[in-house]
Amino acid sequence: MVKKNIGVLSLQGAVREHIHMIESCGTRGTPIKRPDELFCIDALIIPGGESTTIGKLMLKYGFMDTIRQLCEEGMPVYGTCAGLILLAKKIKDGDRTWLGLMDVEVRRNAFGRQRESFETNLDIPDIGKDPFAGVFIRAPWVESIGKDVRVMSKFEDKIVMACQGRILVTAFHPELTGDNRIHNYFIEMIKKS
Ligand code: GLN
Repeated sequence: MVKKNIGVLSLQGAVREHIHMIESCGTRGTPIKRPDELFCIDALIIPGGESTTIGKLMLKYGFMDTIRQLCEEGMPVYGTCAGLILLAKKIKDGDRTWLGLMDVEVRRNAFGRQRESFETNLDIPDIGKDPFAGVFIRAPWVESIGKDVRVMSKFEDKIVMACQGRILVTAFHPELTGDNRIHNYFIEMIKKS
């Protein structure tokens, strides 16, 4: 079978770490710097970073319509942390939205100052029995979901991982761990699409 090619939006944030993870799963990872490069990939990862910065750069370089179009045509997309914020249809407290592709409301920087960054074991039944080390960095959580969204993991009753069709999101950063099970899960999603 031809190797899938996963693009990682390369405007700001943890790009290299995602590519490293994708390659550890035996799949090709390509940094995406221009909108036309989106047509050469099978799926897209939107990394963590600062959602306002990435969102403004996406607008400036003309990414919005192409990502929306390809996603609506079925391209799988995985958003981590800021990537989740960029995909959300609604942002708590009236912040502006960006791609608006996933039927969730998110709260930015939700875990508060005391716990800006932390690591905790998460239970994610879809990827197996062993706990997953969730790395949270000024992370959002999902405040509410639409009917087509499936919750995949919670931490202290807050939704931190979910999917809707071919969109996958995590509030935490699997690319910063040595555990590639979530990237593998995403690759399996692509193979089915
Ligand atoms: N706090 C950032 C935001 O609101 C997200 C942080 C991250 O991606 N690690 O965009």
